[in-house]
Amino acid sequence: MDNAIILMEGVEKYYSDFQALKNINFKVAQGEIVVICGPSGSGKSTLIRCINRLEDISGGKIVVDGFDIYSKKTNLNEVRAETGMVFQHFNLFPHLTILENISVAQRKVKKYVRAQADRESMKLLEKMGLAHKAHGYPNELSGGQKQRVAIARSLAMKPKIILFDEPTSALDPEMIGGVLDVMRELAKENFTIVCVTHEMGFAKEVSDRVVFMDHGEIVEEGAPKDFFSAPKTQRARRFLQEVLVH
Ligand code: ADP
Repeated sequence: MDNAIILMEGVEKYYSDFQALKNINFKVAQGEIVVICGPSGSGKSTLIRCINRLEDISGGKIVVDGFDIYSKKTNLNEVRAETGMVFQHFNLFPHLTILENISVAQRKVKKYVRAQADRESMKLLEKMGLAHKAHGYPNELSGGQKQRVAIARSLAMKPKIILFDEPTSALDPEMIGGVLDVMRELAKENFTIVCVTHEMGFAKEVSDRVVFMDHGEIVEEGAPKDFFSAPKTQRARRFLQEVLVH
């Protein structure tokens, strides 16, 4: 793959003496949509957090859009501005309005003046169908709405890459569809997306590639039609049986 925008080579990650990632070799092409799945505790969240340097790694190398992100010479803020992250628990600022939640980083990092930042934020809220909530606070929103605000906030930085860490896992079932709809729309745009999720329907329909992890390793990966119809390993077969039954 010559056009890799994310490149992980021999990545190892320990939490004290527990090894959470084992020799991870993983590439994502510009514009690719990759879903990471696997049992709880298999290292999925750790893997994507490393791409944004939210974790330190114990060995190996990660290059994002040409930047060696664990090199001391790399300006982390510059790299992080290219890589949006959407978390399971939204992480909105409760004391700021919805609009301010989206504007704050544009002002601090992109140095936009308030009017310019708010204009961008309103456009994004319109895209999320939430313009009417702009002046309310996060606690007035449903979980699905909060997650759409969190997505808008990450888009405000105009990232090339969006990392999703189980974006629908904390949502009531009736809220999941709206968030997946927004993600489907983003997938059609020019973003590179890496998404940890248990939503296998979304993976089948939207992703270019599915990566299956277990016990800190990438066990197999492939096009969704191959992975879902003919998983190569016993571990992936067992995982699919369990998630598809529940
Ligand atoms: P997944 O996202 O697949 O559920 P995680 O990446 O969250 O898995 O976790 C992988 C393993 O690393 C788990 O066994 C988890 O308990 C452990 N782990 C994750 N974060 C920490 C941490 N901050 N300190 C110690 N252990 C951790």
